Amino acid sequence: MEKAILDLLYLLASVGFIVGLKMLGSPKTARKGNLYAAFGMTLAILGTIFIYPRIAHIDVPGFVYGMIFTAILIGTVLGWGIAKKVEMTKMPELVSFFNGMGGATAGLIGLMEFSHNVGHASKMFMIVAGLVIGSISFSGSMIAWGKLSGKLRKPVRLPKYNIINTLLAIILVGFGAYIIISGVNNPVYIYILFTLALIYGVLFVLPIGGADMPVVISLLNSFTGLAAAFGGFLYDNMAMLTGGILVGSAGTILTLAMTKAMNRSLSAVIFGAFGEGSQAADDSGSKIQGNVKEAGPSDAAILLNYANKVIIVPGYGLAVAQAQHVLHELEELLEKKGIDVKYAIHPVAGRMPGHMNVLLAEANVDYDKLVDMDDINNEFPNTDVVLVVGANDVVNPAAHNDPNSPIYGMPILDVENAKNIIVNKRSMKPGYAGIENELFYNPKTSMLFGDAKSALTKVVQELKGMN
Ligand code: NDP
Repeated sequence: MEKAILDLLYLLASVGFIVGLKMLGSPKTARKGNLYAAFGMTLAILGTIFIYPRIAHIDVPGFVYGMIFTAILIGTVLGWGIAKKVEMTKMPELVSFFNGMGGATAGLIGLMEFSHNVGHASKMFMIVAGLVIGSISFSGSMIAWGKLSGKLRKPVRLPKYNIINTLLAIILVGFGAYIIISGVNNPVYIYILFTLALIYGVLFVLPIGGADMPVVISLLNSFTGLAAAFGGFLYDNMAMLTGGILVGSAGTILTLAMTKAMNRSLSAVIFGAFGEGSQAADDSGSKIQGNVKEAGPSDAAILLNYANKVIIVPGYGLAVAQAQHVLHELEELLEKKGIDVKYAIHPVAGRMPGHMNVLLAEANVDYDKLVDMDDINNEFPNTDVVLVVGANDVVNPAAHNDPNSPIYGMPILDVENAKNIIVNKRSMKPGYAGIENELFYNPKTSMLFGDAKSALTKVVQELKGMN
């Protein structure tokens, strides 16, 4: 009977994860989806704590329950507090930190379970695989967190780092296989493997340029999922297995989608060639010739006021300036004037996938107004005004026109096809890829210089005074 209840709880938990993940696919349902998945996880945790020990005939002393619930309380309060307070621009580093904690947990399971399973090759395989992958994910995520939070600014590349990393990876696999096959009964071996995996995680992420960190995070995310899935096999725990597989496969799909959107191959990702593009970008420095046309808030307001159709392109600068609310106000004002307004969302705009969707959702922008790149690109030719706010690389025509550009081949929003373009940013400085943008020199483009929040506030004031 107890076994049946536990199986039912795990089944419900798995359904919660699957339905929750599906609902995360749309901003409309994402919040609810997150709650479903969290509810599933709560069922799985409660079932494991209260029902599993009865089935396995484990006598859990009261003080152990006390420790478990104290740990859960501390984790919940800390996690809740941090997640509530985090700014939108700091989201990628938070994701990285939380992911690292998942990896650490998988690694610790391996350390604990080693001595209980010596001699069982199949179980030892799960332990070794979960420990290695989880530990790489932990140390790699911590380095990623350091980079994203600006504590570790420059990519550190040891001489021949690619060879060192590949050798270390071979050693890890070989040593892990030895532990599984030989059936050694000395815990020192598993601690050595653990340390090697931690070192590999550090060396794997260290050379990667800050620019490519979000891709690494989703890759590490898939590692954590995989490590958890091995834990699920080890304990024959269906909820853990389903959760791990979902995280692992979702992370892998996201990694592939991002590498595609950034025009990088997965092999370049795996063999540590990250960030080379941005490095090259710094050196390429091809100077674009031409004039830049500057516009004030009133010029921008006039252009917008007489348009029939406006497309807004948000980018990283919008998040930095926290200008999403005033942008929404601008959009509503234009709509009231009978102007058709949409937002064009590039898959890698900002610093993490979905960054712009979440940012705009926070300002209550109607989800139906957010249109993906592939769906909106053919609308630019009949758009009167495109308003680019704090975006740069994702609208850079060099991706189409300049085979020497590090972003050549990256799919972009074809804003240059619109009748008029207003670009808001603070200066002529390049964006994340470190390259110039010929869009700013296009005769159809007007540059509205200034911080997005104050510039857009002025445009809104001007628009309010117009008929
Ligand atoms: P970019 O980094 O290309 O450009 C952002 C622009 O915002 C800058 O040029 C900056 O110009 C401007 N800006 C910064 N602060 C402000 C402010 N307060 N007010 C107004 N403007 C501001 O961002 P995009 O969103 O266009 O492109 C994202 C880049 O990130 C792409 O290269 C993409 O490949 C990369 N990337 C994205 C990932 C993702 O998953 N989303 C993952 C990895 C990389 P200025 O300093 O002059 O103000």
